[in-house]
Amino acid sequence: MNAPLPVLNDPPRDEPERSLILDPRTYEQALKCVHCGLCLPACPTYVLTGHEADSPRGRIQLMRGMVDGAIELTPAVREHLDLCLDCRGCETACPSGVIYHELIEETRWRMEQKGQAPLSFQGRVMRWLSMNLFVHPTRLKLAVLPARLMQKIGLYALLRKTGLFKLLPMQFRKMEQMLPAQGKLWPARLPQRMEPLNKAEGQPRRVGFFAGCIGSVMFDTPNRQAVELLAAAGAEVLIPHAQVCCGAIHHHSGAPTPAAVMAKRNIDVFLPKDGPGVEFITTNIAGCGAMLHEYDHLLRDDPEYAPRAKEFVKRVKDISVVLLELGLPKMNHPVNRTVTYHEACHLVHGQKVSGPPRQLLAKIPGLKLVPLPESDLCCGAAGTYNLTQPQMATALAERKLSNIATTNAEICATGNVGCAMHIQSEAAARGQKITVVHPVQLLHEAVFGK
Ligand code: SF4
Ligand code: SF4
Repeated sequence: MNAPLPVLNDPPRDEPERSLILDPRTYEQALKCVHCGLCLPACPTYVLTGHEADSPRGRIQLMRGMVDGAIELTPAVREHLDLCLDCRGCETACPSGVIYHELIEETRWRMEQKGQAPLSFQGRVMRWLSMNLFVHPTRLKLAVLPARLMQKIGLYALLRKTGLFKLLPMQFRKMEQMLPAQGKLWPARLPQRMEPLNKAEGQPRRVGFFAGCIGSVMFDTPNRQAVELLAAAGAEVLIPHAQVCCGAIHHHSGAPTPAAVMAKRNIDVFLPKDGPGVEFITTNIAGCGAMLHEYDHLLRDDPEYAPRAKEFVKRVKDISVVLLELGLPKMNHPVNRTVTYHEACHLVHGQKVSGPPRQLLAKIPGLKLVPLPESDLCCGAAGTYNLTQPQMATALAERKLSNIATTNAEICATGNVGCAMHIQSEAAARGQKITVVHPVQLLHEAVFGK
């Protein structure tokens, strides 16, 4: 007779008490680590602190130790785990194929479930805002409305000058600092619903556009430009209005159940059961794209959605990949600027997309693309990390900006809304002159002019 399988939440009495219980499939990731340390130089928090406990190898040991009952979950341990950006730089560097993000994400979920080491008051407020405001574009638009109005009449700049905002706790100061200046990332008007676009004759390739929740408010201009570029490249672009947040904020904050609900909704919307769906599901936002790629993992135990999630993931492609695949429209307008490229973690490490954005930029007439040192090291944005860990986020932004300064570029292109807002706002706070844009903004200029 087969021995009964161990019950996940009920360790035998003679085993030490464990601070953490992980799905055995996730725990296996910790066992794959051979402690070689090759991931250390790729880890932004280790690079900055030099502490083993702030490295991937150290954190894996902490999580494994908690599962084995050798390490207790103390506030210090929690701090080292919380400081992780979930940037996945360690995964790219790891020769043993440790899928680190599965470990840290499940650990966060289990800690949240058990109410272990609860968050500070400010942390709880941030968590509430992330899950109840940021993921709802209409609520977010309404929330930023007063700031936009104040910007328009000049009151905002005045308030900034008084130094009043400096009295806010750091997390809220950071949130205020990230509001884009009018006319930069966000346009003068409030974003309206985007409509499908098809300029192609015959039987065009069908592309579903995923706008993102924060992206559809803060990245409205690049989103519209991406849709115009896709249509000019011969695609029929569908923008289903029933799409919802990708679930990344919930998933990365230890709330996989609502994330799974959102994943199922997006699968139903882009790949309906009773139709062929779209050929590609594309997005301008690396963070969303990486999360859409996770749907097969998130829904692996759901008998109905697991096979559909696999099919969905196959069709998710970053905008740079889809534009290269479709073939770029004619570029008649030279963009005579020096540009450097920052690799968003969730594009380079999360989706392993590194070459395509650079290839696109290199094709733009007049544009001089210059390499950025440490281009794949996290800038500190990492979803809502810059709000929950503002000190580390700021230190990483400073490092990124110093690297950008060495290139003498006037523009930094990057494929993620969070990186763009973070780098731009930190540059403004330091008085460093750099314009941060999405690569599609430069392509759009080259195709359609200013
Ligand atoms: S995900 Fe990023 S911050 Fe976290 S351990 Fe890996 S490299 Fe370090
Ligand atoms: S590179 Fe991979 S195997 Fe080596 S220490 Fe890091 S996580 Fe472990």
